[in-house]
Amino acid sequence: MIIVLKADVEASHPEVRRLIELAESFPDVHTELHRIQGATRSLTEIYLLGHTGVIPTTPFQEFACVEKVVRITEKFRSIGRHGGGLDAVGFEYNGVRISQDSFHCFPGLCAVDTRENVDAVFRLLAEHGIETARAGAYKPRTSPYDFQGHGAACLPWVFELAGKHGIRIVTMEVTRESHIEEIQKALAATGFATGVMLQIGTRNAQNFELLKAVGQQTELPVLFKRGMGITLEESLNACEYVASGGNRRIIFCLRGMKTNLGDPHRNLVDFAHVPVVKRLTRLPVCIDPSHSVGSRALAPDGLLDLFHATAQGVIAGANGVLVDFHPHPEQALCDGPQALLVSELPRFLEDLRIVREAYQARLRNLATPP
Ligand code: PEP
Ligand code: MN
Repeated sequence: MIIVLKADVEASHPEVRRLIELAESFPDVHTELHRIQGATRSLTEIYLLGHTGVIPTTPFQEFACVEKVVRITEKFRSIGRHGGGLDAVGFEYNGVRISQDSFHCFPGLCAVDTRENVDAVFRLLAEHGIETARAGAYKPRTSPYDFQGHGAACLPWVFELAGKHGIRIVTMEVTRESHIEEIQKALAATGFATGVMLQIGTRNAQNFELLKAVGQQTELPVLFKRGMGITLEESLNACEYVASGGNRRIIFCLRGMKTNLGDPHRNLVDFAHVPVVKRLTRLPVCIDPSHSVGSRALAPDGLLDLFHATAQGVIAGANGVLVDFHPHPEQALCDGPQALLVSELPRFLEDLRIVREAYQARLRNLATPP
């Protein structure tokens, strides 16, 4: 059971203490307090855990400080909406507000290669007013003989260059627990020139020890990618590992499903699940068209399949787009063939603007009486 307190009621309020005492007077019930920082107000939620099935909701609803009492209906209790009973929660990180209402694009290198290319990417993003990017330092590869990423060695200059161009968030995959500390140390050494969102790749979607590790630190937010060969429910439960560790600053990312029925795309595009994940969870939802489509194939209408897939997700309300972009794809050490070109970036960003505007127009249309 989750008790949502009225906005700005502090946990130290005497009524809240009485409420917790009442909850804990039931056998085998304990409580956990969670504070959620919204754009304009903060919310406190009290989780009743343990043997709560038999506890009535009415005595809690009668407290003046209580906004609502919601029964937990899904296993993914921290990230779930529980039948719509709970509002979405966003977060702010390094000056960027991310929620189920916001929209950001994270273009960048699938894998960091040279200083020149990283500099060129961040410079171009800055020219387009973009403060969020991707840059992979630790790469999980299908073959052990493929480039595995520059690892910790590139972090100082990647962060320094991000700071130089005003990039506020870089999403960066981690594949083992020690990478988290390497990133934190390198960020501190550059005087927090930028911010990092820890990316959990699809291959590690059920690496529960890694999920616990990114969840038990609260300094860096997490971008969790759906597992490519498991059910959505399994991915949501896996994502709950992050939240249950204490870190609630999470974006859920759709990146396509592995099935030959997705051919000729690298993965079967699953962006129809954007509204589904927004309904089932409180999390902002991102799409990764690059790892879904996996090529620069052109449709007969002149738009890349990548543009079309992205549009599907954005018109359905996606809050973020993670997209591979490379100034010299022929030099890329990973996924060059699916990267957007410099010449394509302005048109891609304009396409995003058009489609996001169409999504907002759809919402305005809903608000208009028929
Ligand atoms: C990536 O974004 O670099 C990546 C490897 O994606 P995924 O984990 O979705 O395959
Ligand atoms: Mn890639």
